[in-house]
Amino acid sequence: MTDKEPQRSLDTVLVHDEGHAEGAVSPPIYQTSLFTFDSYQAMVDRFRGDSDQALYSRVDNPTVSVLLEKISQLENGEKALAFSSGIAAISNAVLGLVQSGDRIVCVKHCYPDTYRLLQLICARFDVTTEFVDGSDLAAVEEALPGARLLYLETPTSWLFEEQDLNSIAELAKRNGVTTIVDNSWATPIFQQPLRVGIDLVVHSASKYISGHSDTVAGVLVGQAALIDQLTSETTPYLGAKLSAQEASLLLRGLRTLPLRLQRHQESALLIAKKLSAHPGVTAVHHPGLNLNSNSCLSGYGGLFSFELDESIDIPTFCDALSLFRLGVSWGGHESLVMPSEISINQAGSPSAAIDFGVPSRLIRLFVGLEDSEELWQDLESALANA
Ligand SMILES: *Cc1c(COP(=O)(O)O)cnc(C)c1O
Repeated sequence: MTDKEPQRSLDTVLVHDEGHAEGAVSPPIYQTSLFTFDSYQAMVDRFRGDSDQALYSRVDNPTVSVLLEKISQLENGEKALAFSSGIAAISNAVLGLVQSGDRIVCVKHCYPDTYRLLQLICARFDVTTEFVDGSDLAAVEEALPGARLLYLETPTSWLFEEQDLNSIAELAKRNGVTTIVDNSWATPIFQQPLRVGIDLVVHSASKYISGHSDTVAGVLVGQAALIDQLTSETTPYLGAKLSAQEASLLLRGLRTLPLRLQRHQESALLIAKKLSAHPGVTAVHHPGLNLNSNSCLSGYGGLFSFELDESIDIPTFCDALSLFRLGVSWGGHESLVMPSEISINQAGSPSAAIDFGVPSRLIRLFVGLEDSEELWQDLESALANA
C-alpha cells in the first residue's frame, strides 16, 4: 500500500482490486516460469535489486504478489511470502532463523506436524526445543533467557488454549527472542498478532484463506527486515513456492473470508453450547466458552474439540454421522470430525513415540457452512446411537 492510499477496512481490502489489465476484477494468472528482460541493463538492474520486475516464479510471480500485498495489509505486516503449504511457511521461518546450538521455546499442543518438525528435523541439527504451557506466563518467562525463537499458536490445535500475546511479546522483546505466531485458527479477521508486537505470523492458507478445501498453501508475514533476511538467506534455496494458480484460488477465498468466519463462528458457538449441556460430553474446548481475560481474539472460528465419556463408543459415533465427515484439515465449506485417537497414535511412524499430551477421548469438530440446526441434529442423533 502506498502512503497516498486511504486506510481501508479489512472488508474493503479483501474485495477491492484495481489496476489489472483490461479492467479485470480478478488478477490474471501468470502461468509462466520465467520473465524476460527488454535490455541487458534491465536485467542488470533486476539482479542489483534496483528494479522489481519479476524474474522467475520460484522467487516472484505477479499473481502471487497480489496475494502477498493483501496478506500484508490484512495482518498489518510490511512484507509477506507465500509457500506451497502451511508447514512450508513454518519450516522456512524456523530453519531460516535458527543455527546449530540454538534453543527454541514452543507452546505445548501446537499443530502436530510443527511438533514433528521441531522434534525430528531441528533436533538433527542440534537445535533443541523446550515445550512450555503457553497459558502460564511465568513458565514462558522462565524459558526465554538464551532462547533464539519463541513459537506460539493461539489457540492451540487440539485443546484450543490461548496465550496472552501482549505480555508474551513484551517478555520476548526484553529477552531478544524472535516470536512467531501460527494465526491459522483466528485469521487476521479475529486476531492480529503483529499489532501487539509479535515478529512473524504464519498461516496454513489451506484452511480459511482458501476456504474451499481445494488448495494446500501457506503464508508468512512480518516486518520487512526479517522477511528480507529470509529471502536473502533461506527461502529461495528451500524452494517451496506457491503456484500462480493456487495464489489465484487464495485470492478468491479471501474475498469471502469475513462472511464465512461470521457463519462459522455463529454455528460453532451454538453447537459448542449444546454439546456442553450433553450428558455424554465431559469437556468442551472452545475459546468462546472458556473466556480468557487476556485474549487477543475478537471472534471465534468453526474449529473446536470436546471429550466423550466412556459410555460413548467413538468409532460408532463417527460412523453414525452423516453431515460431519471423517477427515483431516478444516477451514473449508464442509463440516468435519477428527478423533484424536486416530490422528495422534500413528503406529509405526517415526513420531509414534512423541507424546502430544492430547486426551485420547478427544473429538475435534470443524463446523462448516451447512445449516447449523441440521448439523446439531446430526451430532445429537449420532451421540444417541453410539
Ligand atoms: C493445517 C495446519 C498447519 C499446516 O498447514 P498445511 O497447509 O497443512 O501444511 C499448520 N498450523 C495449523 C494450526 C494447521 O491447522
